[in-house]
Amino acid sequence: MKIGVLGAGQLGRMMAISGYPLNHQFGFSGNSNNEPSALLGHMFALEDNADNVESLVAFADVITYESENTDVEVVREINKDVQVYPGEKSLFITQHRGREKALFDQLSIPCAPYQMVNSEQDLIDAVDNIGLPAILKTATEGYDGKGQFLIRETSQIADAWKSMNGVESILEGFVNFKRELSLIAVRGIDNDHKYYPLVENTHHDGILRLTIAPAQAINSEVQKTAEHYMQTLLDEMDHVGVLTIELFETEDGLVVNEMAPRVHNSGHWSIEGANTSQFENHVRAISGMPLGDTSPTHPFSAMINIIGEIGPTDLALKMSNAHLHLYDKAERADRKLGHINITANTQSELNASIATLTDFLPN
Ligand code: AMP
Repeated sequence: MKIGVLGAGQLGRMMAISGYPLNHQFGFSGNSNNEPSALLGHMFALEDNADNVESLVAFADVITYESENTDVEVVREINKDVQVYPGEKSLFITQHRGREKALFDQLSIPCAPYQMVNSEQDLIDAVDNIGLPAILKTATEGYDGKGQFLIRETSQIADAWKSMNGVESILEGFVNFKRELSLIAVRGIDNDHKYYPLVENTHHDGILRLTIAPAQAINSEVQKTAEHYMQTLLDEMDHVGVLTIELFETEDGLVVNEMAPRVHNSGHWSIEGANTSQFENHVRAISGMPLGDTSPTHPFSAMINIIGEIGPTDLALKMSNAHLHLYDKAERADRKLGHINITANTQSELNASIATLTDFLPN
């Protein structure tokens, strides 16, 4: 099949790398030939938005997207000619934190208390109802912790509202979590579902640094609960493709933070760490192929992000259990340039390999 991707970043790049062995071809929409996907398929330049989408649509048998910030109107138009997966409903809900939280409430999925905020007075009222500490976030377009303000005291309310630049926002109660986890699953056109194991994520300055897969010390009840939330969401949105949910593990159980209708950074470990990667399973799902086995290939895996600077990656190339993935991006502060996956048979092998790499990698 010819698969069209809205976007041309590293996610599209890794989808294409996984999709060529299945005899698929790829086309991307992007601004320049410098983007990570550019050399992996046909590029439909974005200079003229309308023509661009038309030529991508003419090329593709099915279309997917790399970002939940994709314009819903554009997807609606494309859908008249060619199927877009995940569908419009998944995109519409996941690109807005308020809609996402309302769906969690509707489906009895635990999430932080929240209130929508459109003015400083709204924020004062929301702080009254929710209490402090609380986090103010833009309703749309936030990523890597951007567009967020942690409010600890009422004296910060005016600054917090100012920092949102007047855009619709959401105040969320602060969740006292033990760990951050995520669950990645895939649903096929035929309603088959497959789940990866819960993984543990470590962030710094709002950016994911390390994923451990599977998350350690997770009992089967916790995995089952997370899968139940996931299945409810997949079915409600009639989702096709990969869906990711980010969760907080608390003393009182799991609390869902947010979801993404796409392959996710916390699933990159699956390229070598699972029998079928998240990328291949997304491609299989949207092209109507049977889904692949999601079980881990090794008892322990990890993914270390390469951020800002590439550093001495030869070190990883010399390690038999490390796998380097670079995205063909120029170095820039806080930019995700690549990642290293580690597979291991024991916890101590995993820890030693992570320590070796993190001692030398910048950031
Ligand atoms: P997000 O963009 O919603 O994923 O938020 C970025 C990071 O901020 C998360 O990975 C958490 O570390 C932290 N965070 C977000 N929301 C909350 C919350 N309600 N309570 C505590 N920490 C949060």
